[in-house]
Amino acid sequence: MRKTKLVMTLGPALMQGDRLRESLREADAVRLNASHGDLATRLEALQRVRALAVELGRSIPVFLDLQGPKWRVGLLEAPIDLVDGSEGVFCVPGAAAPAGVAWAVPLPHPELFEGAEPGQLWLLDDGAITVKILAKGPELLKAKVVIGGPLKARKGVHPIGMDINMDPLTEKDHADIRWGVEHEVDLFAQSFVRRASDVQQLQAIIQHLGGTQPIIAKIEHPTALSHLGEILDVSWGVMVARGDLGVELGVERVPGLQKQIIAAARKALKPVITATQMLESMIEHAQPTRAEASDVANAIWDGTDAVMLSAESATGAHPVEAVQWLARIAAEADANVKQRTPTLPDELAEKVLSRTDISVAFAACRTADEINARWIVAFTEGGGTARMVSRLAGRTPVLGATVDEVTARRMGLLRGVTALMIPRVSSTDEMVAVVRELLAAKHELVSLDRVVMTMGLPLWKTGSTNTMKVMTF
Ligand code: PGA
Ligand code: MN
Repeated sequence: MRKTKLVMTLGPALMQGDRLRESLREADAVRLNASHGDLATRLEALQRVRALAVELGRSIPVFLDLQGPKWRVGLLEAPIDLVDGSEGVFCVPGAAAPAGVAWAVPLPHPELFEGAEPGQLWLLDDGAITVKILAKGPELLKAKVVIGGPLKARKGVHPIGMDINMDPLTEKDHADIRWGVEHEVDLFAQSFVRRASDVQQLQAIIQHLGGTQPIIAKIEHPTALSHLGEILDVSWGVMVARGDLGVELGVERVPGLQKQIIAAARKALKPVITATQMLESMIEHAQPTRAEASDVANAIWDGTDAVMLSAESATGAHPVEAVQWLARIAAEADANVKQRTPTLPDELAEKVLSRTDISVAFAACRTADEINARWIVAFTEGGGTARMVSRLAGRTPVLGATVDEVTARRMGLLRGVTALMIPRVSSTDEMVAVVRELLAAKHELVSLDRVVMTMGLPLWKTGSTNTMKVMTF
C-alpha cells in the first residue's frame, strides 16, 4: 500500500479528454497554480475535480498556490539579446535610456532601485541570465552582463541577497485569495514566505474574508531558511519549492536544503510536500529517467509526505503517465522505507510534559506497531490529531475518522493517512461500532484484527485527544 501522497498541478494538458479522470485515480491532491491561466478556466478545473472526486469516491483536496511577490522585468517590444560582457541599464518604464548603452530593460518595481547595490548579482529568467549591478540611481541602474542570453518580456528578476521590506502579498494575490475563499478551496499555498508574520498576514486576510483555509508555506526564499522554526509554528505545512530555491541559493544546495527542511517539518509534526522537476523529462518523454526515479524515492526516504508534479502534469505531453509513474516509484520506495519504532524527536519529548495530545498520539502509534495492529484510527475534528498521528506513526497505517468533509479532504496530503467519513455519534461505544461496520464493509478488517483508536473525551472537542483504546474485532 502506497503511503506517500501525490500532488498534481492542473493545467491545459490535464483538461483534454479523459485525462483528468484517469489521473485522479492515482493523484491524492490537486494544485491550482494562480500564476497561470484565467479565472474561468480555473473555476472549470476546480468544478471538474470536485465532480470527479465524488464520482470516484475519493477525498481530494484542492489548494490554490498564490503567485506571491515575484519581480519581473517590464514589457519589451521584442526579446533583447543580452550579450556577455555588455553594459546596459534597467530603467523606470517610460524613461528614456541614456545614449550609448548596449541595452535598456524597463523595470516596474521602484523598490528594486532602492535595494540595488553595486556589486550585487541579479538573476534573470529563473537563472538563465546573470547581470552584475555597477551603479545605482533613483531611476536608473547600470549593469553588466555576466552570463548572457535572450531576455523576453515579463521574465523573473532575482536580486541575490536583497531582502528589502516588501509586501508579502501583491494585488493579484489579494484577488486570488478572495477567489479561493469564495470557491472554497481546501488550502492555500503561499509563495516566497520569508517569516512567520507573512503567513500570519495571509491567515488574517483569509479569516477576514470568512475563510478557514490553512496555509502551506513555500520555502523558496533565503530568508525563510533562517526563520524555518517560526514559519513551521504558524503554518499548516510547508513545501520544499525546489525551483525558486535553486534559483535563489544555487542548484547544488537543493539536495541538502531538502533534507534540512523535511527534517525540520517532521520535528514540528507538520506535513511537507517536495516539489518541482521531480519527473521533469516526462514533459516530453513517456518514461522518467533513472535519476528522476531516484530523486522521487530519495525525497520519500528523506521523509516527505507528498511529492508534486508541476509542468509534467499541467502542460506536459504525458500527464497521466507522469502521475502513474510517480505512483509506481512512490509505492516501491514506500515498501522500502526503513521502518523504525516510533520515537519522539528530542525537541518534542519536552513538549510532551505539557501536551497530553502528543503523548497520547505517540503512545497509540507505538502500541499499534508493537501489537501488530491493522489500523490506527484517529478521531479528529479539525484534523490536528490526524496530522500529528501521521507524523508519529511507524509502520501501521492511519485512518483519520472525521465528520467534516473538508477535514477529510485535507488528509489527502498526509503520509499514510486515509480519510474515513463517519456520522456524528454521541458515545464511544457508538464510535467503535461505526468504525467496525465501515471497515468490515470495505473488507478492511478480519476477525481478531486489532485496531488502536485515539479520541478526545468528551467527544468532538478540537484539540482534546486524551484517550487511547485498543480494540480486537
Ligand atoms: P512555483 O513554486 O512552481 O510556483 O514557482 C515551486 C518552486 O519554486 O519550486
Ligand atoms: Mn516558486
